[in-house]
Amino acid sequence: MPVDEAKYSEEALVKSVENNIFKCWNCNFCYSTCPINQSMIPYMVHGPSGITQSIYYAIKWDLFSKREELTHILYSCTTCNSCTITCKEMSAGVEVLKIIEEGRKLLVDKMIGPAPSQRGALKSLQSNGNPYAQPGEDRFKWLKGEVKWVPEEQVDFILFVGCTPSYDATINKMAKAIISIFKKAGIDFGIMRGEVCCGSPALRMGDPFLFEDLKGKNTENILMSGAKKVITISPHCYNTLVHDYELPDGVEVLHYTQFLEDLLRRGLIKPKPKEAKVTYHDPCYLTKHNDVWEAPRQVLTAIPGLELVEMPHSKKYSLCCGGGGGRMWLEVEEKEKIERIRLHEALETGAGVLVVACPWCYTMLNNAILDMGKEDKITIMDVAQILDSVA
Ligand code: SF4
Ligand code: SF4
Repeated sequence: MPVDEAKYSEEALVKSVENNIFKCWNCNFCYSTCPINQSMIPYMVHGPSGITQSIYYAIKWDLFSKREELTHILYSCTTCNSCTITCKEMSAGVEVLKIIEEGRKLLVDKMIGPAPSQRGALKSLQSNGNPYAQPGEDRFKWLKGEVKWVPEEQVDFILFVGCTPSYDATINKMAKAIISIFKKAGIDFGIMRGEVCCGSPALRMGDPFLFEDLKGKNTENILMSGAKKVITISPHCYNTLVHDYELPDGVEVLHYTQFLEDLLRRGLIKPKPKEAKVTYHDPCYLTKHNDVWEAPRQVLTAIPGLELVEMPHSKKYSLCCGGGGGRMWLEVEEKEKIERIRLHEALETGAGVLVVACPWCYTMLNNAILDMGKEDKITIMDVAQILDSVA
């Protein structure tokens, strides 16, 4: 598929930033929901309109020689989207995150961004099809030939596994639980042998051309499969396939929690009782980017005996885990890490299990549990692991 290069030209990016920034009233309401403004020293540049103003003035006054400062300001954002929602609900409706993402593309175009520690991830995406410097051919070596492979076989459903569940041994449990449930429900599904990263890390870090390359490879494989539904494990893959790919109308993309909810509704899975008090952490790319928060809760509450308690911040107003927007490859100086702020909320509910629905939330919050030595208070599981344990 030919790439629309004009869309990513410096002229187009500058115009997009300027068109949006002029709507900003500098009311600062967006700071009230920004996680980095809570976790970092609360300078103006550690918050939404401070970041967007920095981009605007870098363009206006040609401040691109300030490489380190600009990279620090632009890449500290987790791309959670809270600012855009807040601005829409309380103020001028500025597409705040869009400005930040266009600014990152400008930095990459000028060979300033991303941050040095993030460059390896982009390089690996280019050469291996994953951001973890792992060989592409090892992607599915954890599978022992127990699934159908696309495109050799035609299937109705594709499980888009993604990079983290494929290469991270801890997160791999999510993929195995989903496959186990599919088998128990008798779902005829396949996995794409040629799957590569969905491209989300490239797009969020500001490299649209690398993204287009990955998107082209996956799109070709999806179209060859004849599948009607693509089920993703990561909300980041889900968001990217829904909004940044151009799949034909007949191909529906679902997050795995939506698919599991459908299996339960159709009676294909009948969960046994489980006594547990759990709290659910909403991933930003399901809720704040896509308004999906009911399906995972429906899966959990379908389990007899399971008590779901909510944290103070939930659904659309949830708190970020700190792992989005390329921050998996960035060490940000913070007075309190975002994932720790979130874990405090989870601990205060008294729940014994923190349930997640995203590989990166799993990693970030699991790290917070280990760093804070809270293993005896709370454990982490994803929605599929819980359901599989009672299915
Ligand atoms: S809430 Fe909107 S209008 Fe107000 S400062 Fe933030 S971006 Fe600007
Ligand atoms: S996307 Fe999230 S982290 Fe980034 S500026 Fe907006 S509210 Fe803050």
